[in-house]
Amino acid sequence: MQPSAILKFLVVATIVAGFAAEPALAQFRSSYTTPQRQPARAGGGGKAAVAAPTGVYPQALFNGKVVRWVQDQMPLKVYVSRGHCLDGFIDDQLGAPRTNVDGKARWPHLVAEIIDNGQINSLPVSEGFQQEHYDAALQGINFWKPFEKEGLYQFVLTNDPSEADIYVFWTHHFVNKMGLGLFANDIRGYTSKEIFDYRLVLQGKQPLFQPVVVLLRTTNQQGNPMTHDNMRASAGHEFGHALGIDQHSTNPYDLMSVYYGRGILSNNDAMTIRYIYKHPPDYIP
Ligand SMILES: [Zn+2]
Repeated sequence: MQPSAILKFLVVATIVAGFAAEPALAQFRSSYTTPQRQPARAGGGGKAAVAAPTGVYPQALFNGKVVRWVQDQMPLKVYVSRGHCLDGFIDDQLGAPRTNVDGKARWPHLVAEIIDNGQINSLPVSEGFQQEHYDAALQGINFWKPFEKEGLYQFVLTNDPSEADIYVFWTHHFVNKMGLGLFANDIRGYTSKEIFDYRLVLQGKQPLFQPVVVLLRTTNQQGNPMTHDNMRASAGHEFGHALGIDQHSTNPYDLMSVYYGRGILSNNDAMTIRYIYKHPPDYIP
C-alpha cells in the first residue's frame, strides 16, 4: 500500500447539547430547527466500556462509549440526493465553502438551515456526478441491510429532502477552510453527525436533533470520475459511520478501515455493528 493511498477519514462526533429548557417526553426529530437554543449540557459519566469480543474493533466506539440509533428513531429515513452539491454555500468569514472539511462539525447545521428555508429543493448537481454514482451509493448503503433481519435497526430511502435522518450529498472534491482543494488526498467521503447523551433524553430532555450528513466525492485523485466499485465502497463505509461506527478499524481488510478493505463488509465489520446495536447506547444521533 503506497503512502499516498493512506486515506484520512474522519467522523465528526461532536457531543452536542441543544436540549430544550422544559423537560418533555422524548420525541425524536419533529423538526431540526427550533426557535431557542440552550447552552450545552455536559454529558459525562455513563457506563464503562465493555470488553469487546474478538473481531470487534474497539475504535468503533466513541471514547469507549456506544453511539447508535434507538428503536424509537426507526425506520431511519435516508435521503440520497441525485448528485446535489452543497458547495455553493459560502462561509462569509472564511470566504470558503461551508462544506470545507475543517468545518465538518457544522455540516448538520447547514443542512438543517437549508431544509428550513427550502434551499434544499434547488441545489445544483455536483460537477463530475454520474447517475452510476447514485446507484453505486445505494449498493454501498445496502451492504448494511441484512442486519435488519437481525433486528438491529431499519432504514428506508426517502425522496423527500425535508424528512430524512441521514443525508447524502456530493462534491467534486473536498476543500479545506482556506478553500484550497484537497486534490491529492484520496479522501472519498466524510460523515458528520451530532450525538446526544441518551440518559438525558430518557430523562425527558428534548434534544435538538440534527441531520447526519454524508458527503461523497465524485472524482478520484486524478480528477477522473470515481469508479463504481470505489463509490460503492465509500458510500458503504460512510454509512457505517452514519449508523454509529465512530473511528476506523485498524485491520486493512475491513470496510471500516481507511483502506476500505475489499470494498465490501468484512466479518469484523459485521461483528462490530452487531456489538454496537446489542449494547445500550450512551449517545444517539
Ligand atoms: Zn471513515
